[in-house]
Amino acid sequence: MSKKPKKLIDKKGRRLDSRKPNELRNIRIEVGILSNADGSAYIEQGKNKILAGVFGPKEMHPKHLSRPDRMVLRCRYHMAPFSVEERKSPAPSRREIELSKVIGEALEPSVFVEYYPRTGVDVFIEVLQADGGTRCASITAASLALADAGIPMRDLVVSCAAGKVDDTVVLDLMDTEDKLGAADVPVAVMPNSNAVTLLQMDGNLAPEEFEKAVNLAMEGCKRIYDLQKEALRTKYMAAKQEEEVKE
Ligand code: UDP
Repeated sequence: MSKKPKKLIDKKGRRLDSRKPNELRNIRIEVGILSNADGSAYIEQGKNKILAGVFGPKEMHPKHLSRPDRMVLRCRYHMAPFSVEERKSPAPSRREIELSKVIGEALEPSVFVEYYPRTGVDVFIEVLQADGGTRCASITAASLALADAGIPMRDLVVSCAAGKVDDTVVLDLMDTEDKLGAADVPVAVMPNSNAVTLLQMDGNLAPEEFEKAVNLAMEGCKRIYDLQKEALRTKYMAAKQEEEVKE
């Protein structure tokens, strides 16, 4: 890791990557890119590159984990050994086990789990390149993969973080800001009902700063939600065009 720069925000209020405090990183989303998964999505958010693949609903293995009244949603978040500066062991770390749990819990409220009793849905997330905020980008992509698999959902789940860098509340922290900043607040939400499905905080914030960070993260989520819907639309328009050519 490089030495801490004196200032993470310059005199003009610009961040290390020249973003303004309320600016998102560049985001590119693609839906339905894996032919062997039931649903899939890929997201690039700044330098983050993340793939999500979904299988199911299908019979639950092992069977004793199935539930008589609902589908079980299982999630595995995994970082590739080459995804970070220092090679990461491919074995699941404590952090990956925790993130798998919180990401699964952030996605589950959006799914009509009661429609498919005794079944399971598996969500696999592969972080190919990480640069801060991977849990949020993973949720955004995994929710699209669930939709792509045709699983009935109340809404998409979209996620974004805000936090404090130097003395400023900023949106969508990249790795250096995440590590050297004062706080990071990841938020996930179902925008149609304004229902929050993930809220975490790493670091210290005064109550008014926390409120500001949550509001800013929600604002970021709304902007990413538009990109999610656009990515879904693009996939189905392409599928429709393919069908028309065949006919
Ligand atoms: N990271 C790393 N090595 C690791 C795990 C994480 O370099 O083994 C970096 C990576 O860029 C990640 C960032 O640290 O995005 C922040 O990790 P955190 O646990 O805060 O989760 P995230 O912000 O990615 O959701």
